[in-house]
Amino acid sequence: MDLNTIHRKELVKKLQNLGIKDRSVLIALTNVKRELFVKDEFKKYSYENIALPLNSNQTISQPFTVAFMTELLEVKPGDKVLEIGTGSGYQAAVLKEMGADVYSVERIKELSELAKDKLGKLGYRVHLKIDDGTKGWAENAPFDKIIVTAGSPVIPKQLLEQMKTGGKMVIPVGDEALQKLVLVIKLENEDPNIKEPKYKFKTFKDFKFVPLIGEEGWRISN
Ligand code: SAH
Repeated sequence: MDLNTIHRKELVKKLQNLGIKDRSVLIALTNVKRELFVKDEFKKYSYENIALPLNSNQTISQPFTVAFMTELLEVKPGDKVLEIGTGSGYQAAVLKEMGADVYSVERIKELSELAKDKLGKLGYRVHLKIDDGTKGWAENAPFDKIIVTAGSPVIPKQLLEQMKTGGKMVIPVGDEALQKLVLVIKLENEDPNIKEPKYKFKTFKDFKFVPLIGEEGWRISN
């Protein structure tokens, strides 16, 4: 067994000790080679439980964060999943390992193109788009699951609209310094007289994400 495989297994053990239980998440993190999504100069830290720098001032999320968000979504094979913030493509690869049909939007062209190249070479067929993901991906909606991997001041309305009934979304919401993970569930409407969809919101602990920049996120230009 090569060293990276050993380190990957140790990291997964650590995530289990930190409370990650979903076996399909643990298996996916055992299978995806994180070192392939990390920049050369940081490869030696690939299996530390830390976020690492990408190009264009962005980061590949901490493995615990990836595992925690993915566990909250309860991804099943065949789920249609929308990811906002392709970044390195690592999270998308984890979702593919779980059998999801993955749609991922990234606003920075350089990152999307690099991710496309990596995912393609590894045989992960992900639908990618360069755009402002706060608008979702209307042509392919609705989605069973939505995962937003950048922090937003609000929950973008168009993402709520693009959820399937019974579907789940996980999104970090807060100020620029700190966000809380919010799990949104779009409920079945039992009353046929009420047309408005109903949502249930559950809030989890603090995380620190790079900002979600766009029409319905932080309105900064860079
Ligand atoms: N899921 C990524 C983590 C990327 S960090 C991974 O596994 O590596 C968050 C990403 O969100 C960054 O690449 C950033 O450029 C992107 N982002 C920020 N605002 C966005 C928006 N409005 N639409 C799409 N992507 C956005």
